[in-house]
Amino acid sequence: MTDSAVEALSGQPSPVLQHAQHGRWQTAQTVEDFAHNLAAVNARMAAACARAGREASSVRLLPVSKTVDVARVRLAVAAGCTFLGENKVQEAQHKWEAMQDLRDLRWSVIGHLQTNKAKFVARFASEFQALDSLRVAEILDRRLQAEGRALDVFVQVNTSNEPSKFGLAPEDVESFIQQLPQFSALRVRGLMTLAIFSDDVPRVRACFVRLRELRERLRQSAPAGVDLTELSMGMSGDFEVAIEEGATVVRVGQAIFGARAVPDSHYWPAGNTP
Ligand SMILES: *Cc1c(COP(=O)(O)O)cnc(C)c1O
Repeated sequence: MTDSAVEALSGQPSPVLQHAQHGRWQTAQTVEDFAHNLAAVNARMAAACARAGREASSVRLLPVSKTVDVARVRLAVAAGCTFLGENKVQEAQHKWEAMQDLRDLRWSVIGHLQTNKAKFVARFASEFQALDSLRVAEILDRRLQAEGRALDVFVQVNTSNEPSKFGLAPEDVESFIQQLPQFSALRVRGLMTLAIFSDDVPRVRACFVRLRELRERLRQSAPAGVDLTELSMGMSGDFEVAIEEGATVVRVGQAIFGARAVPDSHYWPAGNTP
């Protein structure tokens, strides 16, 4: 849907992208701050679902706690977070170890994985959203078998066609997923992407449309055991557009925890540098 179509349908202006405005997210310092931010994000998600004619329950919010220290993560957990996303394995593992007392807390690794870190992911993660190589799949699977564990995985796709971004080119995904059933500890759940960093809503939306259309096309040819139900797309600056285009998981950090001092280019090449 175009922005004007969204406006015409809902009578409301379409969401404004906030990439350029990272400074506007205040740091959450108390359980009440987190409860407030979570409620606000949930309300915006519900409104986006309503605009798109979707059930609010069809989209999961994955709070992203990267750069946030353990003390503040604990406040977010007290406010209701039970599943947290981290971009970097070492940081995720540190927090997992430091919060062993929180038995129900689960971790999703959402950033590029080097093969030498796969063993850590196999040990503590419940989900891995950035699968983009068979080598990583193979090593993860072997480590998971050794741990007697299984892992939900998403295949990361580079929908913005920026050479510096992680993820498979859309045209390589079909043959990639044909190889995945051999890795029986990996439970393939869907596709993940990062949209282009731009304030131009149609260009951002085009990335989300590309992921959804790829999923629709591949669903028919996906091998048994490869489930492409999920679409993980949308962050603090663009999650409403992603929901309008079919996201089932949105990964939201700054709108919950507050603006980050660390630039996005630390996490992926060509990221936002404030
Ligand atoms: C940090 C991060 C997010 C969340 O970004 P925010 O701007 O904090 O909402 C989403 N996805 C990935 C892969 C990330 O590293």
